[in-house]
Amino acid sequence: MPSPVYFGSARQARLEANESLPAKLDMILDRLHLRDRVKNETVAIKIHTGNNLGYSTVHPVFVRKVVQAVKDGGGKPFVTDISWDVRGAYERGYSTETLGCPVFPTAGPDEKYFYAHPRPFKNIREWKMAGLIQDTTFMINFAHVKGHPSCGFGAAFKNLALGCMIGETRGAMHDAMHFDRYWFAEHCPDEATRQRIAASCPHDAIVEDRDRPGEMHLHFEQCNQCGRCLQIAPPGSLKIDPVNFHAFQEACAISVEQVLATFAPGKTTHLSLATHMTPVCDCFGFTSMPVLPDAGIFGSDDIVAIDRAVLDVTGRMQLIEENLPTSLEVHTRQGHPFHWLHGPYKDPYLVTEYGAQLGLGSCEYEWIDVLPVEQIERAPIGYIPAR
Ligand code: SF4
Repeated sequence: MPSPVYFGSARQARLEANESLPAKLDMILDRLHLRDRVKNETVAIKIHTGNNLGYSTVHPVFVRKVVQAVKDGGGKPFVTDISWDVRGAYERGYSTETLGCPVFPTAGPDEKYFYAHPRPFKNIREWKMAGLIQDTTFMINFAHVKGHPSCGFGAAFKNLALGCMIGETRGAMHDAMHFDRYWFAEHCPDEATRQRIAASCPHDAIVEDRDRPGEMHLHFEQCNQCGRCLQIAPPGSLKIDPVNFHAFQEACAISVEQVLATFAPGKTTHLSLATHMTPVCDCFGFTSMPVLPDAGIFGSDDIVAIDRAVLDVTGRMQLIEENLPTSLEVHTRQGHPFHWLHGPYKDPYLVTEYGAQLGLGSCEYEWIDVLPVEQIERAPIGYIPAR
Protein backbone atom coordinates (compact mmCIF):
# COMPACT_ATOMS: atom_id res chain seq x y z
CA MET A 1 0.00 0.00 0.00
CA PRO A 2 1.48 3.41 -0.94
CA SER A 3 2.63 5.60 1.96
CA PRO A 4 1.87 9.33 1.92
CA VAL A 5 4.88 11.56 1.26
CA TYR A 6 4.24 15.26 1.77
CA PHE A 7 6.26 17.68 -0.29
CA GLY A 8 6.85 21.41 -0.35
CA SER A 9 8.66 22.73 -3.40
CA ALA A 10 11.61 25.08 -3.04
CA ARG A 11 10.03 27.03 -5.86
CA GLN A 12 7.62 29.87 -5.11
CA ALA A 13 4.99 31.58 -7.25
CA ARG A 14 5.16 34.80 -5.27
CA LEU A 15 7.95 36.28 -3.21
CA GLU A 16 6.02 35.88 0.01
CA ALA A 17 7.05 34.22 3.28
CA ASN A 18 3.99 31.97 3.33
CA GLU A 19 5.25 30.25 0.15
CA SER A 20 8.77 29.72 1.48
CA LEU A 21 10.24 26.42 2.65
CA PRO A 22 9.90 27.02 6.43
CA ALA A 23 6.21 27.82 5.86
CA LYS A 24 5.82 24.62 3.84
CA LEU A 25 7.53 22.71 6.65
CA ASP A 26 4.74 23.92 8.96
CA MET A 27 2.17 22.62 6.47
CA ILE A 28 3.92 19.24 6.38
CA LEU A 29 4.01 19.05 10.19
CA ASP A 30 0.24 19.70 10.16
CA ARG A 31 -0.33 16.94 7.61
CA LEU A 32 1.76 14.56 9.74
CA HIS A 33 -0.38 15.57 12.77
CA LEU A 34 2.84 16.03 14.71
CA ARG A 35 1.37 18.23 17.42
CA ASP A 36 -1.34 15.67 18.16
CA ARG A 37 1.19 12.85 18.52
CA VAL A 38 3.80 14.16 20.95
CA LYS A 39 1.89 14.98 24.17
CA ASN A 40 4.06 13.97 27.16
CA GLU A 41 6.58 12.34 24.82
CA THR A 42 10.32 12.90 25.15
CA VAL A 43 11.13 13.79 21.56
CA ALA A 44 14.56 13.34 19.99
CA ILE A 45 14.99 15.56 16.94
CA LYS A 46 17.86 13.80 15.16
CA ILE A 47 19.67 16.14 12.83
CA HIS A 48 23.17 16.18 11.40
CA THR A 49 24.75 19.32 12.82
CA GLY A 50 27.68 18.96 10.42
CA ASN A 51 31.23 19.67 11.38
CA ASN A 52 33.85 22.42 11.36
CA LEU A 53 32.99 24.92 8.56
CA GLY A 54 29.92 23.25 7.08
CA TYR A 55 26.97 25.58 6.48
CA SER A 56 24.63 23.53 4.26
CA THR A 57 23.07 21.40 7.02
CA VAL A 58 19.43 21.94 8.06
CA HIS A 59 19.27 25.63 8.99
CA PRO A 60 18.28 26.39 12.61
CA VAL A 61 15.17 28.22 11.34
CA PHE A 62 13.75 24.86 10.23
CA VAL A 63 14.82 23.00 13.37
CA ARG A 64 13.29 25.69 15.58
CA LYS A 65 9.96 25.27 13.81
CA VAL A 66 9.97 21.55 14.61
CA VAL A 67 10.96 22.25 18.23
CA GLN A 68 8.09 24.73 18.53
CA ALA A 69 5.60 22.26 17.06
CA VAL A 70 6.68 19.64 19.62
CA LYS A 71 6.29 22.16 22.45
CA ASP A 72 2.89 23.24 21.11
CA GLY A 73 1.82 19.61 21.28
CA GLY A 74 2.96 19.17 24.88
CA GLY A 75 6.14 17.18 24.10
CA LYS A 76 9.63 17.61 25.57
CA PRO A 77 12.03 18.12 22.64
CA PHE A 78 15.79 17.91 22.45
CA VAL A 79 18.03 18.08 19.40
CA THR A 80 20.66 15.38 19.07
CA ASP A 81 23.59 14.20 16.98
CA ILE A 82 26.82 12.26 17.55
CA SER A 83 29.16 13.79 20.13
CA TRP A 84 31.86 14.60 17.59
CA ASP A 85 29.47 16.93 15.76
CA VAL A 86 27.55 18.27 18.77
CA ARG A 87 30.79 19.50 20.38
CA GLY A 88 31.06 22.52 18.06
CA ALA A 89 27.45 22.68 16.92
CA TYR A 90 26.93 26.11 18.49
CA GLU A 91 29.56 27.47 16.06
CA ARG A 92 27.19 26.54 13.21
CA GLY A 93 24.13 28.05 14.88
CA TYR A 94 22.75 25.09 16.84
CA SER A 95 22.36 26.12 20.48
CA THR A 96 19.67 26.11 23.14
CA GLU A 97 19.13 29.83 22.50
CA THR A 98 18.60 29.47 18.74
CA LEU A 99 16.67 26.20 18.77
CA GLY A 100 14.61 26.60 21.93
CA CYS A 101 15.67 23.26 23.43
CA PRO A 102 18.90 21.54 24.50
CA VAL A 103 21.37 19.92 22.11
CA PHE A 104 22.62 16.58 23.44
CA PRO A 105 25.15 14.04 22.12
CA THR A 106 23.29 10.83 21.26
CA ALA A 107 25.53 8.55 23.31
CA GLY A 108 26.96 11.01 25.84
CA PRO A 109 30.11 13.13 25.49
CA ASP A 110 32.43 10.12 25.22
CA GLU A 111 29.99 7.74 23.49
CA LYS A 112 29.90 5.46 26.54
CA TYR A 113 26.11 5.47 26.83
CA PHE A 114 24.82 2.81 24.44
CA TYR A 115 22.98 -0.49 24.16
CA ALA A 116 24.38 -3.45 22.24
CA HIS A 117 22.07 -5.33 19.86
CA PRO A 118 23.32 -8.68 18.53
CA ARG A 119 22.70 -9.06 14.78
CA PRO A 120 25.44 -10.68 12.66
CA PHE A 121 26.19 -9.06 9.32
CA LYS A 122 29.55 -9.59 7.58
CA ASN A 123 32.18 -8.24 10.04
CA ILE A 124 29.59 -6.88 12.50
CA ARG A 125 28.42 -9.02 15.43
CA GLU A 126 26.47 -6.41 17.40
CA TRP A 127 25.21 -2.89 16.87
CA LYS A 128 25.97 -0.37 19.60
CA MET A 129 23.03 2.01 19.59
CA ALA A 130 23.22 5.44 21.21
CA GLY A 131 21.51 5.44 24.60
CA LEU A 132 19.52 8.65 24.13
CA ILE A 133 18.00 7.30 20.93
CA GLN A 134 16.93 4.04 22.53
CA ASP A 135 15.65 5.65 25.74
CA THR A 136 13.56 8.37 24.14
CA THR A 137 9.90 7.71 23.33
CA PHE A 138 9.45 9.61 20.05
CA MET A 139 11.88 10.50 17.29
CA ILE A 140 11.80 13.04 14.49
CA ASN A 141 14.44 12.17 11.92
CA PHE A 142 15.28 15.46 10.20
CA ALA A 143 17.82 14.85 7.42
CA HIS A 144 19.68 17.02 4.94
CA VAL A 145 19.88 15.48 1.47
CA LYS A 146 23.32 15.34 -0.17
CA GLY A 147 25.66 13.05 -2.04
CA HIS A 148 27.73 10.48 -0.19
CA PRO A 149 31.04 8.86 -1.19
CA SER A 150 30.17 5.43 0.27
CA CYS A 151 26.63 4.96 -0.97
CA GLY A 152 25.86 7.67 -3.52
CA PHE A 153 23.53 9.74 -1.39
CA GLY A 154 22.57 10.45 2.20
CA ALA A 155 19.17 11.40 3.58
CA ALA A 156 16.67 9.78 5.98
CA PHE A 157 18.28 6.33 6.15
CA LYS A 158 21.77 7.67 6.42
CA ASN A 159 20.87 10.16 9.18
CA LEU A 160 19.71 7.34 11.44
CA ALA A 161 21.95 4.52 10.27
CA LEU A 162 25.20 6.24 11.16
CA GLY A 163 23.94 8.97 13.50
CA CYS A 164 22.25 6.62 15.99
CA MET A 165 25.23 4.28 16.46
CA ILE A 166 28.44 4.91 18.39
CA GLY A 167 31.76 5.39 16.58
CA GLU A 168 32.82 1.76 16.92
CA THR A 169 29.74 0.59 15.00
CA ARG A 170 29.95 3.44 12.49
CA GLY A 171 33.51 2.34 11.71
CA ALA A 172 32.46 -1.31 11.44
CA MET A 173 29.69 -0.36 9.00
CA HIS A 174 32.24 1.28 6.72
CA ASP A 175 34.54 -1.73 7.11
CA ALA A 176 31.74 -4.03 5.90
CA MET A 177 32.79 -2.96 2.39
CA HIS A 178 36.09 -4.80 2.94
CA PHE A 179 34.52 -8.04 4.18
CA ASP A 180 34.28 -9.80 0.82
CA ARG A 181 37.71 -10.40 -0.64
CA TYR A 182 38.67 -8.20 -3.58
CA TRP A 183 42.49 -8.56 -3.71
CA PHE A 184 44.08 -11.92 -4.51
CA ALA A 185 47.79 -11.50 -3.83
CA GLU A 186 48.66 -14.92 -5.23
CA HIS A 187 47.89 -13.59 -8.72
CA CYS A 188 50.12 -10.53 -8.36
CA PRO A 189 53.36 -11.37 -6.54
CA ASP A 190 55.29 -8.61 -8.36
CA GLU A 191 55.76 -5.40 -6.33
CA ALA A 192 56.41 -3.25 -9.41
CA THR A 193 53.02 -4.31 -10.82
CA ARG A 194 51.31 -3.42 -7.53
CA GLN A 195 52.90 0.00 -7.67
CA ARG A 196 51.64 0.47 -11.23
CA ILE A 197 48.12 -0.51 -10.11
CA ALA A 198 48.24 2.13 -7.37
CA ALA A 199 49.64 4.72 -9.76
CA SER A 200 46.86 4.03 -12.29
CA CYS A 201 44.17 5.39 -9.97
CA PRO A 202 43.65 9.15 -10.37
CA HIS A 203 41.70 9.23 -7.08
CA ASP A 204 44.30 7.51 -4.86
CA ALA A 205 41.65 4.92 -4.13
CA ILE A 206 43.87 1.86 -4.30
CA VAL A 207 47.10 1.68 -2.33
CA GLU A 208 49.53 -0.90 -1.08
CA ASP A 209 48.55 -2.05 2.41
CA ARG A 210 51.18 -0.67 4.79
CA ASP A 211 50.66 -3.39 7.39
CA ARG A 212 50.29 -6.41 5.13
CA PRO A 213 53.04 -6.77 2.51
CA GLY A 214 51.74 -7.92 -0.86
CA GLU A 215 48.17 -6.79 -0.14
CA MET A 216 46.34 -3.89 -1.78
CA HIS A 217 43.78 -1.79 0.07
CA LEU A 218 40.83 -0.15 -1.67
CA HIS A 219 39.45 3.10 -0.29
CA PHE A 220 35.89 2.54 -1.44
CA GLU A 221 34.84 6.12 -0.68
CA GLN A 222 37.26 7.45 -3.29
CA CYS A 223 36.60 4.80 -5.91
CA ASN A 224 34.21 5.76 -8.71
CA GLN A 225 34.60 2.39 -10.46
CA CYS A 226 36.29 3.82 -13.53
CA GLY A 227 38.16 0.54 -14.10
CA ARG A 228 41.59 1.99 -14.86
CA CYS A 229 43.24 -0.22 -12.23
CA LEU A 230 41.68 -3.34 -13.77
CA GLN A 231 43.54 -2.65 -16.99
CA ILE A 232 46.85 -2.97 -15.08
CA ALA A 233 46.02 -5.69 -12.56
CA PRO A 234 46.93 -9.25 -13.66
CA PRO A 235 43.91 -11.48 -14.32
CA GLY A 236 42.31 -12.70 -11.10
CA SER A 237 44.21 -10.35 -8.79
CA LEU A 238 41.66 -7.56 -8.30
CA LYS A 239 37.89 -7.36 -8.24
CA ILE A 240 35.95 -4.10 -8.39
CA ASP A 241 32.76 -5.83 -7.37
CA PRO A 242 29.27 -4.54 -6.49
CA VAL A 243 29.16 -6.88 -3.48
CA ASN A 244 31.66 -4.71 -1.61
CA PHE A 245 29.97 -1.42 -2.48
CA HIS A 246 26.50 -2.73 -1.63
CA ALA A 247 27.57 -3.96 1.80
CA PHE A 248 27.49 -0.43 3.21
CA GLN A 249 23.95 0.13 1.96
CA GLU A 250 22.76 -3.12 3.49
CA ALA A 251 24.49 -2.22 6.76
CA CYS A 252 22.64 1.12 6.73
CA ALA A 253 19.29 -0.64 6.30
CA ILE A 254 20.06 -3.11 9.11
CA SER A 255 21.15 -0.27 11.40
CA VAL A 256 17.88 1.58 10.76
CA GLU A 257 15.97 -1.64 11.41
CA GLN A 258 17.63 -1.82 14.85
CA VAL A 259 16.88 1.83 15.59
CA LEU A 260 13.23 1.85 14.53
CA ALA A 261 12.59 -1.38 16.45
CA THR A 262 13.16 0.51 19.71
CA PHE A 263 10.14 2.77 19.05
CA ALA A 264 6.49 1.88 19.38
CA PRO A 265 4.45 2.03 16.15
CA GLY A 266 3.63 5.60 15.13
CA LYS A 267 6.36 7.10 17.33
CA THR A 268 8.77 8.08 14.55
CA THR A 269 8.50 10.44 11.62
CA HIS A 270 10.90 11.64 8.96
CA LEU A 271 11.67 15.00 7.34
CA SER A 272 14.20 15.66 4.58
CA LEU A 273 15.42 19.02 3.35
CA ALA A 274 16.75 18.83 -0.20
CA THR A 275 18.55 22.14 -0.58
CA HIS A 276 22.21 22.96 -1.20
CA MET A 277 22.96 19.35 -2.09
CA THR A 278 26.72 18.88 -2.05
CA PRO A 279 28.68 15.93 -3.52
CA VAL A 280 29.66 14.47 -0.15
CA CYS A 281 28.41 14.09 3.41
CA ASP A 282 28.01 16.93 5.92
CA CYS A 283 30.55 15.21 8.21
CA PHE A 284 33.35 16.33 5.87
CA GLY A 285 33.44 19.62 7.76
CA PHE A 286 32.91 22.06 4.90
CA THR A 287 30.34 23.03 2.32
CA SER A 288 31.10 22.94 -1.40
CA MET A 289 28.97 24.18 -4.26
CA PRO A 290 25.56 22.56 -4.80
CA VAL A 291 25.53 19.88 -7.50
CA LEU A 292 21.74 19.82 -7.94
CA PRO A 293 19.13 22.57 -7.93
CA ASP A 294 17.19 22.92 -4.66
CA ALA A 295 14.23 20.52 -4.64
CA GLY A 296 12.29 21.29 -1.47
CA ILE A 297 11.19 19.67 1.77
CA PHE A 298 9.68 16.23 2.31
CA GLY A 299 7.85 14.57 5.21
CA SER A 300 6.55 11.05 5.81
CA ASP A 301 6.10 8.44 8.53
CA ASP A 302 7.65 5.92 6.11
CA ILE A 303 11.44 6.06 5.88
CA VAL A 304 11.56 3.98 2.70
CA ALA A 305 8.96 6.09 0.94
CA ILE A 306 10.57 9.42 1.85
CA ASP A 307 14.05 8.45 0.60
CA ARG A 308 12.45 6.98 -2.51
CA ALA A 309 10.52 10.18 -3.21
CA VAL A 310 13.64 12.30 -2.68
CA LEU A 311 15.53 10.11 -5.15
CA ASP A 312 12.75 10.25 -7.73
CA VAL A 313 12.59 14.07 -7.56
CA THR A 314 16.35 14.58 -7.63
CA GLY A 315 16.67 11.89 -10.29
CA ARG A 316 14.77 14.10 -12.71
CA MET A 317 17.23 16.95 -12.15
CA GLN A 318 20.31 17.84 -14.10
CA LEU A 319 23.67 17.52 -12.37
CA ILE A 320 25.29 20.96 -12.24
CA GLU A 321 28.59 19.76 -13.64
CA GLU A 322 30.20 23.21 -13.63
CA ASN A 323 29.85 23.17 -9.81
CA LEU A 324 31.75 19.91 -9.31
CA PRO A 325 35.13 20.04 -7.60
CA THR A 326 37.70 19.44 -10.32
CA SER A 327 38.98 16.35 -8.46
CA LEU A 328 35.71 14.57 -9.23
CA GLU A 329 35.06 13.14 -12.67
CA VAL A 330 31.88 12.07 -14.40
CA HIS A 331 32.60 8.91 -16.40
CA THR A 332 29.05 7.63 -16.69
CA ARG A 333 25.85 9.49 -17.46
CA GLN A 334 23.61 6.52 -16.72
CA GLY A 335 21.05 6.53 -13.95
CA HIS A 336 20.61 9.01 -11.11
CA PRO A 337 22.84 12.13 -10.98
CA PHE A 338 24.36 10.69 -7.78
CA HIS A 339 25.43 7.67 -9.90
CA TRP A 340 27.16 10.12 -12.21
CA LEU A 341 29.01 11.55 -9.22
CA HIS A 342 30.02 8.41 -7.37
CA GLY A 343 29.91 5.61 -9.93
CA PRO A 344 27.51 2.88 -11.04
CA TYR A 345 27.98 0.54 -8.04
CA LYS A 346 27.03 3.25 -5.55
CA ASP A 347 23.36 2.94 -6.37
CA PRO A 348 21.45 5.49 -4.25
CA TYR A 349 18.21 3.50 -4.54
CA LEU A 350 19.68 0.38 -3.00
CA VAL A 351 19.21 1.38 0.63
CA THR A 352 15.48 1.79 0.04
CA GLU A 353 15.32 -1.66 -1.52
CA TYR A 354 17.13 -3.26 1.41
CA GLY A 355 14.87 -1.28 3.76
CA ALA A 356 11.73 -2.50 2.00
CA GLN A 357 13.00 -6.11 2.18
CA LEU A 358 13.40 -5.68 5.94
CA GLY A 359 9.81 -4.45 6.20
CA LEU A 360 10.73 -0.88 7.14
CA GLY A 361 8.39 0.71 4.63
CA SER A 362 7.15 0.85 1.09
CA CYS A 363 8.83 1.85 -2.16
CA GLU A 364 5.34 2.87 -3.33
CA TYR A 365 4.19 6.27 -2.18
CA GLU A 366 1.38 8.73 -2.61
CA TRP A 367 2.79 12.11 -3.57
CA ILE A 368 1.07 15.04 -1.85
CA ASP A 369 2.25 18.57 -2.65
CA VAL A 370 1.23 20.74 0.32
CA LEU A 371 1.26 23.95 -1.72
CA PRO A 372 1.51 23.38 -5.47
CA VAL A 373 3.34 26.23 -7.17
CA GLU A 374 0.73 28.35 -8.91
CA GLN A 375 1.42 28.94 -12.57
CA ILE A 376 0.63 32.62 -13.03
CA GLU A 377 -1.03 33.44 -16.35
CA ARG A 378 -0.06 36.66 -18.06
CA ALA A 379 -1.48 38.43 -21.09
CA PRO A 380 0.89 38.50 -24.09
CA ILE A 381 3.40 41.35 -24.05
CA GLY A 382 2.38 44.21 -26.35
CA TYR A 383 4.70 45.62 -29.02
CA ILE A 384 6.28 48.96 -28.11
CA PRO A 385 7.79 50.52 -31.23
CA ALA A 386 11.23 52.10 -30.97
CA ARG A 387 11.35 55.86 -31.29
S1 SF4 B 1 38.15 1.60 -10.34
FE1 SF4 B 1 39.05 3.61 -10.84
S2 SF4 B 1 38.68 4.84 -9.00
FE2 SF4 B 1 38.42 2.71 -8.39
S3 SF4 B 1 40.41 2.08 -7.61
FE3 SF4 B 1 40.32 1.50 -9.79
S4 SF4 B 1 41.26 3.24 -10.85
FE4 SF4 B 1 40.73 3.95 -8.79
